[in-house]
Amino acid sequence: MSDTTSSSVKRSSPRHELNFGEAWDYAPAPESAKVTIEPRYGHFINGKFTKAGKTFPTINPATEETLSEVALGNTRDVGRAVAAAKEALPKWSRLKPTERAKYIFRIARRIQERARELAILETKDGGKPIKESRDVDIPLVAQHFFYHAGWADKLHYAFPGHGRGDIQPVGVCGQIIPWNFPLLMAAWKIAPALACGNTVVLKPAETTPLTALRLAEILEEIELPPGVVNIITGAGDTGAALAKHPDINKLAFTGSTEVGKILARTAAERGDGIRLTLELGGKSPNIIFDDASIDQAVEGIISGIYFNQGHVCCAGSRLFVQEGIVDEVVEKLRIRMQSLRVGDPLDKNTDVGAINSGEQLTRINDYIRIAQDEGAELHEPQASSNGLPSKGFFCRPCFFTGVQQSHRIAQEEVFGPVLAVQTFRTPEEALKRANNTPYGLAAGVWSDKGSKIFEIATKLKAGVVWCNTYNKFDAASPFGGFKESGFGREGGIQGLRGYVRL
Ligand code: NAP
Ligand code: MG
Repeated sequence: MSDTTSSSVKRSSPRHELNFGEAWDYAPAPESAKVTIEPRYGHFINGKFTKAGKTFPTINPATEETLSEVALGNTRDVGRAVAAAKEALPKWSRLKPTERAKYIFRIARRIQERARELAILETKDGGKPIKESRDVDIPLVAQHFFYHAGWADKLHYAFPGHGRGDIQPVGVCGQIIPWNFPLLMAAWKIAPALACGNTVVLKPAETTPLTALRLAEILEEIELPPGVVNIITGAGDTGAALAKHPDINKLAFTGSTEVGKILARTAAERGDGIRLTLELGGKSPNIIFDDASIDQAVEGIISGIYFNQGHVCCAGSRLFVQEGIVDEVVEKLRIRMQSLRVGDPLDKNTDVGAINSGEQLTRINDYIRIAQDEGAELHEPQASSNGLPSKGFFCRPCFFTGVQQSHRIAQEEVFGPVLAVQTFRTPEEALKRANNTPYGLAAGVWSDKGSKIFEIATKLKAGVVWCNTYNKFDAASPFGGFKESGFGREGGIQGLRGYVRL
């Protein structure tokens, strides 16, 4: 266990529990599990771990301690992984679908069995609060594999008019994922690919490789045929080498819009019709009408922006409040924000854990300064009620009022616990301003009137619209963006489309 203590974090009362997701029955008490982390890890290629060779450190952002040294993938490593995936493809894709389903089902079961350990590892490597890893991330990871195990022998129902023989896998899939939901993003990518008969080379993010490597151990344990899933650790260059490899047939990317645009150019330059899906950034609006239940909305606003320290692509980072209720909402928000416990991510009472890296903390602090320079008013918890640990990368949750549409805080993705509050008078004005960014990933609408909600929800340019709630996820529900938030969908029947040729 980490030696950071929660004693340095002052607690306020009354105690509030954030309700970010459905706690599954089997969610264990991960604080008590022992987790072994090897000092060095190689890549997982063709069913085996390689020697580590040249490495880079992955740290615990709450303590700044090195957890392990992890192999730094180069073009040759990528080549070996792609070759293994290519060799495994014919057998895996021709396996009876019920057999493929069994393997995926076994992965799901093993994830449940090792849930404690996976939750701790996710929290140590990435900094998110243990109650989120334990109650949200890892249960959703298991759910994603269970859900897709179910599809493997039913694909002909997903694509009406197509017989079994008309549904072919795309081939070798290169998959690149970010650091905010490391194992969950791996599950979003790997599970549908396997269900549809593809093979995979996955590259986790530089700061959070450990749970993907633990997943590799699980794949060994359940005896997934060698080469079906390969995991290459490394930095941006490793991802770039994977994207350029001529033998990948599909590239699935989740990350920043900036890198997504680079990969779109790579795909175009290849000129070989490689399949591409991009899940990119967001600046999602959360719109509160004056007939909404304000207490309920405040909980949704809090979870919308402070869940996972705001490292969430669909974070409700722009709040639009109807003018008549703005004073009440801001006051309640201020009180509620004050009650959030910032600190040791391994403490089960922590609401806001560590920022994923020093680089990300600098970026967030820069945005806080820019917003103040542009004239917005900063609201943050009083230091006495929410002191920060002396080591590690921490940031107190905050919000800004007096935000103008032209302010950078209203347009650009901060990817931290920073909320921009604006007001509106009419639904038309709310809609116009909500849609006025380059992004279109998600949105929230809060009102007592169903007709008003549906009217605005259908006009919002967002892939997901939550009504009187926020940040609810389900493997059966497609997720993905409009505009610069990307294209393609993950999850649900729609997510299978990215992994088949009809
Ligand atoms: P990022 O910098 O774009 O990195 C994402 C992944 O791409 C990492 O594995 C990264 O490796 C790799 N990469 C970096 N440069 C590359 C290149 N030139 N070619 C190929 N791969 C490259 O994003 P991030 O900072 O990890 O994640 C935050 C972003 O992800 C945010 O914008 C967030 O909104 C977005 N996101 C979107 C969704 C969604 O579903 N729409 C979900 C989660 C996150 P390194 O880690 O080694 O740099
Ligand atoms: Mg780390």
